[in-house]
Amino acid sequence: MNQDRDIIMKSQENQLKIKFMKAALKEAYKAEQINEVPVGAVVVHQGKIIARAHNTREKEQTFYAHAEFLAMMKAAKKIGSWRLEDCDVYVTMEPCPMCAGAMIQSRVRTVYYGVKDLKSGVADSIINIFELPFNHHVHVESGLLAEESQKLLKDFFKKLRVK
Ligand code: ZN
Repeated sequence: MNQDRDIIMKSQENQLKIKFMKAALKEAYKAEQINEVPVGAVVVHQGKIIARAHNTREKEQTFYAHAEFLAMMKAAKKIGSWRLEDCDVYVTMEPCPMCAGAMIQSRVRTVYYGVKDLKSGVADSIINIFELPFNHHVHVESGLLAEESQKLLKDFFKKLRVK
């Protein structure tokens, strides 16, 4: 019985994770529509999305305008604190050093990311920053809806090369 309940709980939990990652993907599509590298992110607090953002680095000419960084800034504003202790970040691509650093600094609970970024990802690809002994430990889960995130990125760069 207990085992059954565990399985049901687990599948409900997974469905929620997929729902949140889909919201992040929706943001990534918004980035794609304005010719930005299609990466999107949401921040979840107490089971609800409190911030959404997509990459706008070209449009804003701002180096920190990565999806997850912007979403975390919005979340902090909403909560009224720089501490994102009970927050989870869903981002369609593996975070870069800047965003991973911001997650550690703001004490994010868990980061869920989709596709790996072999060129600048630091949650596995280049190194795993989150394994290092900082004062705060961010949990990491990878691979959520990775295929769709990857396809979106691949198609985007293909189109860029044709132009
Ligand atoms: Zn970043």
